[in-house]
Amino acid sequence: MDTHQCLACQVNEGRTAPPGGVIYRDRWWQVDHRVDPGPILGWLVLKPLRHVEFLDALTDDEAATLGRVTRRVVGAMRAALPSPPAKVYALLLAEAADCPHLHWHLVPRSATHPREFRGPRIFSTEGPDVPRADIDALADRLRALLHAD
Ligand SMILES: [Zn+2]
Repeated sequence: MDTHQCLACQVNEGRTAPPGGVIYRDRWWQVDHRVDPGPILGWLVLKPLRHVEFLDALTDDEAATLGRVTRRVVGAMRAALPSPPAKVYALLLAEAADCPHLHWHLVPRSATHPREFRGPRIFSTEGPDVPRADIDALADRLRALLHAD
């Protein structure tokens, strides 16, 4: 696809601002809150800076750093969320027409999350968008944790 149309590329290149701002960025990866925030606070998206559509298209550096960056971000999520999640999902689909770019949904599933919306059905969770101020506060806490080490 034309990468100009790709949502992940738009966010990585600063053409679309994610709520809360960029949470983490290094030479290979960027982490933001979901652009369309949805009802779950802390639903983050981890993606390579490059437009990559298949796991086997990652460079050696991207492949080597993926596990470490995922671990750090999930650790920060568990420390920063107002209530600790019962699970943190890592879901890679890249199925949306406007975003074939590899991106992992890192989703904190709370202990009280409705059973019928657990697992992949978490994408169907209904409810009002998380308040922007809550995302801003969480993003600040995550940035502080991720830049501390
Ligand atoms: Zn892209």
